[in-house]
Amino acid sequence: MKVDIVTIFPAMVRAPLAEGIVARAIAKGVLDVRVHDLRDFTTDRHRVVDDMPFGGGPGMVLKPEPLFAAVEAILAQRRAETAASHPSLADAPEERTRGDVSAGASAQAEGGCAIVLTSPDGERLTHAVAERLSAVDHLVVLCGRYEGVDERVREHLATETISIGDYVLSGGELPALVIVDAVARLVPGVVGDAASVAGDTFARDGLLDFPQYTRPAELRGLTVPPVLLSGHHAEIEKWRRDQAMARTRRLRPDLLRGS
Ligand code: SAH
Repeated sequence: MKVDIVTIFPAMVRAPLAEGIVARAIAKGVLDVRVHDLRDFTTDRHRVVDDMPFGGGPGMVLKPEPLFAAVEAILAQRRAETAASHPSLADAPEERTRGDVSAGASAQAEGGCAIVLTSPDGERLTHAVAERLSAVDHLVVLCGRYEGVDERVREHLATETISIGDYVLSGGELPALVIVDAVARLVPGVVGDAASVAGDTFARDGLLDFPQYTRPAELRGLTVPPVLLSGHHAEIEKWRRDQAMARTRRLRPDLLRGS
């Protein structure tokens, strides 16, 4: 999967991508993640990315032109690389941004490209959203800052807007990292053991995960459920299912109602 993240704080985004599962997937070539400095897509001497809101009010707004330029450059670059490595695809219809209508949305419908704007008023990130995004070939994430982003970016450039929860952060960098991590671990080959992802909370029949224990079997008088030490695989499996169901009923009954 190709991932491009556009931000005014590239170092903030790069550091977490240099550790752990995502870093390993990048090293293996399963993920190709690039972080872009929005200021590289400005044309003025001071590399200005923000401006005052029309109509007045506090704070600054991220200007639309650098974001449009960034997405256009990213799509052109990725497209050129695909054409170079798969010459037979070079004749495919040109991918466009939504500058006119909904070319971006239709690109995603073809399993192509999702251009995600991070915003606290977007669609809430859930397992289902992560699963849908894990099927796209190319994920672009735009990080807002200040009071937010010129509305024309949402309406004519992004194919969707995603929120990571009902609270306001100071920028889209942490949301972008959350989105990329949640999506990437569902991309085949990113997590070494696919069974591990399939058994996670939300993934396994929409239930929470069962309790996990490791050695020692006794710690300060605290023991672990004996069935886990029994070696009876069928009984262990049954115990785990029962625990997952009971825990879901107790902590997240909404998941059982399918809402
Ligand atoms: N004035 C805006 C908040 C801007 S916060 C409002 O009231 O809605 C600045 C940026 O941080 C946003 O543009 C977005 O990119 C990011 N951001 C903040 N909270 C977020 C959340 N919960 N989910 C996703 N992105 C968020």
